[in-house]
Amino acid sequence: MGTTAAQWAREELDALARQGLRRALEPLRSAQGPEVVVGGQRLLSFSSNDYLGLAADPRLAQAAARALAARGTGAGASRLMVGDTEAHHTLEREAAALMGTEAARLFNSGYAANLGILATLCGPEDVVFSDALNHASLVDGCRLSRARVVVYPHADAAALDGLLAAAGGRRRLVCTDAVFSMDGDHAPLQELAEVCRRHGAALMVDEAHALGVLGPNGRGLSEVLGVEPDVRMGTLGKALGAFGAFAACSAEVAELLMNRARPLVFSTALPAALCAAGEEAIAVMRAEPALREALWRNIRRMADGLRALGVPAEARSAIFPLVLGEPERALEVAAQLRARGVLVKPIRPPTVPRGTSRLRFAVSAAHSEAQIDRALEVLAALEVRVAA
Ligand code: PMP
Repeated sequence: MGTTAAQWAREELDALARQGLRRALEPLRSAQGPEVVVGGQRLLSFSSNDYLGLAADPRLAQAAARALAARGTGAGASRLMVGDTEAHHTLEREAAALMGTEAARLFNSGYAANLGILATLCGPEDVVFSDALNHASLVDGCRLSRARVVVYPHADAAALDGLLAAAGGRRRLVCTDAVFSMDGDHAPLQELAEVCRRHGAALMVDEAHALGVLGPNGRGLSEVLGVEPDVRMGTLGKALGAFGAFAACSAEVAELLMNRARPLVFSTALPAALCAAGEEAIAVMRAEPALREALWRNIRRMADGLRALGVPAEARSAIFPLVLGEPERALEVAAQLRARGVLVKPIRPPTVPRGTSRLRFAVSAAHSEAQIDRALEVLAALEVRVAA
């Protein structure tokens, strides 16, 4: 029984292993946080996206627990059936208020949101323009839309301008990460918005790594740059420490998403308990700008420290890539750091392009100065050479 697929799997796993690309799970034996217990070891972690340190915050857990007691675990159906609750509407109102948009539409994850948004707004007669370093969920959303996909060079608004001028298509949409997930750099949103305006294209921005991190209100890069994209995707699973995601957009787009986005129409709704956690996370983030200030103190400390070690680094997001080259090299340096108590998971293709395997340090508001310094000290002792 089942030997055919098992044989295929063995072939594929062997191929992955030969290329240094096979991955394995390692369950945490602690809550999420700057220190975690993995494989019997207590380690200093720089691999989570828990940028504000809210993932294990008791206020979020208590909000979820109250809703859990009242509503149980399962939503039971999609929202269009009987899975919809007041908690979903409240969270959507709060997300829209946070982002300063007319509406917000909740999704079960950022991945599902990107698939749903792109495939709803674009179809076979349309053209989607996608940054070469966009996150896999945007890439998959482009594919699922069945639109023609034009990949433009990374963060290059001038190149996009030329490509838009040359492309036909019924509707045209440009999609980009705000903060790029594996590099930590920013999309040139003002220039992209201007190019879109000139060509009558729509702009969709994925604020996954910018929400809660950037902007006076934590709305993300769009807020910093004063840009109002047609749709902004924000995930509740990173800086906000909860789960789920939303599209912040006009009321019309939100309405269409509920009608057409297949990850909403054909999937069980988020449990009310997770909606409650998301709502609490937004409330905490809005009430405590000190969290973002602490994050930025750590970001600056990390950037200064890395530069002092000769590693190119900028204080522009919570993400610091240490590009090492081949996958084996990233595995080796990660193992050396780990032997000294620092957990930074290696990032390899297909998450990043070939030849750019790396360690991705992600800083959180919850790290202490001493913890940042400790990671830098361990790196200094290793004298890691960074790929050109
Ligand atoms: N967009 C980007 C840029 C991401 O990095 C991620 C998560 N890695 C997602 C979307 C998906 O979000 P979620 O984890 O909520 O599915």
